[in-house]
Amino acid sequence: MSLWKKIFKKHHIGVEPAKYFEVKIPSSPRFLCSDKACPCPGKEQLIPGKTGFLFISKELVQLRATALTYREFMSKANRNAQGRGITVFLEQGVYEPLFMCEQAARKRGLDFAVAAADAAYVFKHGWCPLRPTPKQKSI
Ligand SMILES: [Zn+2]
Repeated sequence: MSLWKKIFKKHHIGVEPAKYFEVKIPSSPRFLCSDKACPCPGKEQLIPGKTGFLFISKELVQLRATALTYREFMSKANRNAQGRGITVFLEQGVYEPLFMCEQAARKRGLDFAVAAADAAYVFKHGWCPLRPTPKQKSI
C-alpha cells in the first residue's frame, strides 16, 4: 500500500477515489475569493460548495503528482529551492488549488458542479482530487 493510501484511509470513509493530494487548510480559513484574475473585491465570505468554487490547474496536478502529502511536497520544494525557482511557484499560489467566487469560476469556464463539490470536499477533508477542474461543456 502506498503512503498516500495509508494516510488517506485515516481521513476518508467510503469509496476510495482515484488519487488525492493534501492541502494545508488554515485552522480558521477565510472563505474569500483568491483568484487574482477576478475583478471582484474579494471581500465577500463564500460558502464552499455553494458560492465558493475550487480551481485545480493542470500545473498544480503535475506539481503535486509526485508529492501527494504536504510533507512530501515541502521536502520536494526545499530540494528544488537550490536549483530551480520553487519560490516562484509558492508566490503565485500554484502549489494549492484556488478558491474563488462564482464570477471567477464563470470567467475560467469551470464546470460548476465539480468545482463546487471540490471546494466543499477540500475544506472538509483537507485532500484535493489529483485532476484538473473540468471545463464547462457548453456555455
Ligand atoms: Zn472573485
